Amino acid sequence: MGSRRSGDADRTGGRLPRKAPRFATGRRFSPGDRLVVLRYHRNMTLKDAGARRYRGRFAPSPTGPLHFGSLVAALGSCLDARAAGGEWLLRMEDVDEPRTMPGAAAAILDTLERFGFSWDGELAWQSRRKPRYRAAFERLRLAGETFACACTRREVADSFLGAEGAPRYPGTCRNGLPTGREGRAWRFRVDPGEVCFEDLLQGRICQDLAAEVGDFVLLRADGLFAYQLAVVVDDAEQGITHVVRGADLIDSTPRQIALQERLGLPRPVYLHLPAAVNAAGEKLSKQTRAKAIGDVRPQAALAGALEFLGQQPPDGMADGDLDSLWRWAIMHWSRDRLPQRRRIAAPAGW
Ligand SMILES: [Zn+2]
Repeated sequence: MGSRRSGDADRTGGRLPRKAPRFATGRRFSPGDRLVVLRYHRNMTLKDAGARRYRGRFAPSPTGPLHFGSLVAALGSCLDARAAGGEWLLRMEDVDEPRTMPGAAAAILDTLERFGFSWDGELAWQSRRKPRYRAAFERLRLAGETFACACTRREVADSFLGAEGAPRYPGTCRNGLPTGREGRAWRFRVDPGEVCFEDLLQGRICQDLAAEVGDFVLLRADGLFAYQLAVVVDDAEQGITHVVRGADLIDSTPRQIALQERLGLPRPVYLHLPAAVNAAGEKLSKQTRAKAIGDVRPQAALAGALEFLGQQPPDGMADGDLDSLWRWAIMHWSRDRLPQRRRIAAPAGW
């Protein structure tokens, strides 16, 4: 299977020699940490020897029904895995419990099944994996990689802006809580300097986390673990080799890589597909009133998603049967035809 740009990123996992995992550089850690780190490193060596089979995933957040943008991510990740003879897992990213919508997870599963998606293994639920996030958080905390933060959301928002206008944490509590203040959340200490990776579609992506994001939250003031930590723990535990997802998440990737490195976890290969936006250029979402794709005839929606991904489905596919559509899509899947863009307008009305 061809990649236009990074020919050997598949083999190296895009890993860069610049920085060894932090635990290996003499930083103090507990005996428990050492065991875990050694185990992961051994796994990495075995897997990097070529025995690692492609394993991809789709990880929707049940905050509303699937829309065209999430269908594109589901289809792209599934086809990339199936075309490589790999596995494709499904994970419900319901770690942000206040944002989940009752019934949304069931509606997403129903839509995926009706559209002909089939996934390998058991569906994973982030809300049921909190002990694993806790364990990873504790390892980081005991190793001095985190600090308690007393700042409110408003205090951080009032600081100067980082990447894409998002507030950047100014480091207020990095060297200890201000007098008289109590810790609310726990943040991850980011290193100065750029974190880079080779995206199979978007090319080389670099972000200076300290300058653009700042120390980011791992354990929130409401007691929930942050999405960034949950994703990194899950991808490693599920043995995900390829993360194919929408480019709306590309700015999260350097944070996830920084966490992987500090936890001694392998780095998957990344491919960020163009994100679907509406006519106003906004990402499709419940907030922007994107249409529920489950209301569209599956063949029409899937043919539209294939078209969006540059796969040039033959005429009439939207009117044909679902099995033939899937057979054609897997057989003809081509990374080389993917548009090398971060965002593209969705078909009108979707
Ligand atoms: Zn703070």
